[in-house]
Amino acid sequence: MDDRCIFCGALVPEGSMICPQCELKYMPVVEETDDEETEEKD
Ligand SMILES: [Zn+2]
Repeated sequence: MDDRCIFCGALVPEGSMICPQCELKYMPVVEETDDEETEEKD
């Protein structure tokens, strides 16, 4: 029994809910940034 992508309906491997494309599209990898935004005011 094939599973389908919950977003686009494409067939995905059994056990998967999202196809690779939608995984990238809807679940992007969050990059942790240690950079604090500093506002320079004159
Ligand atoms: Zn998809």
